[in-house]
Formats: sequence, C-alpha cells, structure tokens
Amino acid sequence: MLREGGATIARVISPDSIVTAPWPVMKCRYGCPRYGHNRSCPPFAPAWQEMRAILDSFSEAIIFSVPDMSAGTPLAIKVTREACRDGYYKALAFGTGPCTLCEECRVGECPRPYDTAPSMEACGVDVFGTVRGLGLPVDTSPAPDAPLNCYGLILVH
Ligand code: SF4
Repeated sequence: MLREGGATIARVISPDSIVTAPWPVMKCRYGCPRYGHNRSCPPFAPAWQEMRAILDSFSEAIIFSVPDMSAGTPLAIKVTREACRDGYYKALAFGTGPCTLCEECRVGECPRPYDTAPSMEACGVDVFGTVRGLGLPVDTSPAPDAPLNCYGLILVH
C-alpha cells in the first residue's frame, strides 16, 4: 500500500532502531516558525521521553520515504487505518512535516484530528541518525531540484 501510494522506500524495521534524543526539539524551538503554532509540532507533539516509551511498546514498524513532504502524512494515516482494520489495533502513524490541512492551524480547536499525525522529528526522533543507522539514503543538504527523501513511520504492533 505504501509503494502504491507513492513511497519510494518502505521497510519493516524494529522500533529499537529508531533513535530518540533530547536535542531535536531545539531545532524546532529555535529554527522553525511553526513551533507552538501547529498541533502536530512541539510543544504539542510527544516529547522524546514519551516517544521512546511509545516506541518501546511496539515490536514492529515500517519506515517509508516519499519524495514530496506533503504526501507522507495522508499516506501514513491511510495505511495505518487499513492496518487497524486488519487487526493491528495499536497501529500509529507518523507523517512528514507539519500539518497543513488548514490555512492557519487552530491548535486547540482542530477540526480534523483524525486526519493528521506528527512527524517523527516533532516527537524527538533523530531522523537522520535513524536513517543512516538503517543504511537508507539521506541527504542533509539536497540540491534545490534533487528528489527528496521525506521519511515517515508506521508503528504496527
Ligand atoms: S487539521 Fe488544521 S487545526 Fe488540525 S492540526 Fe491540521 S492545520 Fe491544525
């Protein structure tokens, strides 16, 4: 389903291989205007300690990559819903980038909470470190017209 939905990479992994750290939130807090203004971003998204506990309560995950930042969250949510229907009732989606469904995020009055999910990095995951550790492609400084690798995650069971 992920590949049919446009993912260029989809790999089953152990949640143990997802690297969490205290520092990613600093990239948000002092590097992104959406900090505090988007429900899928810090400080609303789970902090790294909570994310670690969530990851540790699963035994299987799927990491995937899409070339378009806006494509990862709807795809992760769609596949996660299907996994729930298939009996993987714990399945959780982590998308790519902040939620952009509304022109301006109404943090406390979100009209579509079931259609959005935080990204891994919003939850204190060191995405580059994780991806490098898995031997997957990553470019920390892509050329302007180079295809992107935007990574999302589905915790399965
Ligand atoms: S659906 Fe709208 S209000 Fe809800 S998180 Fe996304 S942008 Fe914010």
